[in-house]
Amino acid sequence: MERTHFNGTLTKENIGQDVVLVGWVSKWRNLGSLLFIDLRDRSGIIQVVVRRASENNDPSFQAPECPDVRNEYVVQVFGKVEAKAVENKALKTGAIEVVASKVVLINKAQTTPLIIDDETDALEDVRLKYRYLDLRRPVMQERLITRAKIVKAFHEYLDENGFLEIETPLLTLSTPGGARDFLVPSRVHPGHFYALPQSPQIFKQLFMIGGLERYYQIARCFRDEDLRADRQPDFTQVDIEMSFLDQDQVLTLMEGALAKVFKTVKGIDLKLPLRRLEYLEAVNRYGSDKPDTRYGFELQDVHPLFTESAFEAFKTASSIKAVVVPGIAKATSRKVLDELNLIARKYHLKGVTPLKVEGGVLTGSFTKFLSEKETQGLFKALSLKEDDLVILAGGSDNTDVCFALGAIRIYFAKSLNLIKPNTFDLLWVVHFPLFEINDAGKLVSAHHQFTRPCQEDLPLLDSDPIKVFAQAFDIVINGYEAGGGSMRIYDHDVQYKIFEVLGMSEEDIKKQFGFFIDAFNYGTPPHGGLAFGLDRLAMILSGTDNIRDVIAFPKNLASVCPLTKAPGTVEPKQTEELSIAITKMEKDS
Ligand code: ASP
Repeated sequence: MERTHFNGTLTKENIGQDVVLVGWVSKWRNLGSLLFIDLRDRSGIIQVVVRRASENNDPSFQAPECPDVRNEYVVQVFGKVEAKAVENKALKTGAIEVVASKVVLINKAQTTPLIIDDETDALEDVRLKYRYLDLRRPVMQERLITRAKIVKAFHEYLDENGFLEIETPLLTLSTPGGARDFLVPSRVHPGHFYALPQSPQIFKQLFMIGGLERYYQIARCFRDEDLRADRQPDFTQVDIEMSFLDQDQVLTLMEGALAKVFKTVKGIDLKLPLRRLEYLEAVNRYGSDKPDTRYGFELQDVHPLFTESAFEAFKTASSIKAVVVPGIAKATSRKVLDELNLIARKYHLKGVTPLKVEGGVLTGSFTKFLSEKETQGLFKALSLKEDDLVILAGGSDNTDVCFALGAIRIYFAKSLNLIKPNTFDLLWVVHFPLFEINDAGKLVSAHHQFTRPCQEDLPLLDSDPIKVFAQAFDIVINGYEAGGGSMRIYDHDVQYKIFEVLGMSEEDIKKQFGFFIDAFNYGTPPHGGLAFGLDRLAMILSGTDNIRDVIAFPKNLASVCPLTKAPGTVEPKQTEELSIAITKMEKDS
């Protein structure tokens, strides 16, 4: 099809040129003698003018051939670029327009169920059902372009640094730990299942044992979890593994990749090296293992002030922390304080204790428990000023206390609009605990079972495993965990020990990981790696907080694809072939 230019690339330089353009009718206005068409292609929009009557009653005037047009019709336009009398500042090409000599209809369109514009009032499920129309919205194209640019920057950087892109199987073995697997029944082996990979973790480590030294893959991963705003059941990681480097070298090499991504996608020069914050410091200062450090309200330890407190809960607490929000005491309503209590309850606290500095003194119902010494102590320790709001939280678990105040810190940053758009805060959080206790009270890996414990903590594996720290790290951007990884165990016996500490029997270890730890016996190099969450990176760099905005065909919060209606039922013959009986069936809505 003849086309000389992309619409959004035309500039004043093209004035006087004959052009042939194609695209969709984004808008049209029929003024009788003049028809204006905003013609859109992926590069942008240009105004086309069809003059249907002579401006000066010229009898030889012949109106250009032009069909009836409607929104989203696909057309081809032959014409000449001219300067516009009055520039349209809202449009990148607003200084020029194309005066048509002929408009050809290529395809018609029905009235679309959503407005094809950056602003649309369509509900998300409608947008997802008609995703192919939603994708025509320039803002959506911009997001997918950002995503593609990120991938390209990674490919270039990793290639320049000797990484090989290698694929790993999508049909693999279900292994415990982490999230629930998506299972795929085997037809040829009745009663047996493949699992879709939660990540290529084991395979990429086998690449290292296989001597490939530097691997990466734009890897599709699958986790059968309940969805949250920034999660999808199938998602994409930039998965990376490397041999013979220590943790510092890994972080240095990987922050180089981020620098390349930020430069190519955003034109931003990241200041390297990125900050490295220990997990415990992150929790104690920001109340989060993925802190956004673009704003203050850091947590402050006030526990020593309350050892003699008249308030029993504080007297017996093992942790009491404070957050001070300046200049808002007067304006803070009961309703806001109630919301803070709700946040605190999510972290197993009964609530928080608010205090205000008003008229030079502390006010609030909690003051009845405060001695003069404690009051003076608070003023001094927190450098309190008029109109400060102080939020105190105490409890028996320091992590709960910190995380509750961390969530409150985010609450105020958002409600006070302290986060400037298009600003980026990147840091590594390092030195995580190796294990954590899950909701069922069981010891589980905080990262995964292959994470290398810190050498000095190895003796604790037997005596007090929860105290063991790991050579693990997360990359945090604007308060999101944008990636994470670790140095890996490369010693057969240590790996075996970890499985044991996690409560696996000899038989389980053999069945589930036998092939893996056998490989450790044949010369395993020290190695480590990480995975960047591509969807999250694209989301952050696109300035949206909805992960579905940067995935072409995402699932909704009910794990359904509104476009294809997946998951669907299948023919009885199909389940029979798989030797599977359906014992429970949801009604189709
Ligand atoms: N496989 C890990 C994950 O998906 C990342 C890594 O350790 O490389 O979280």
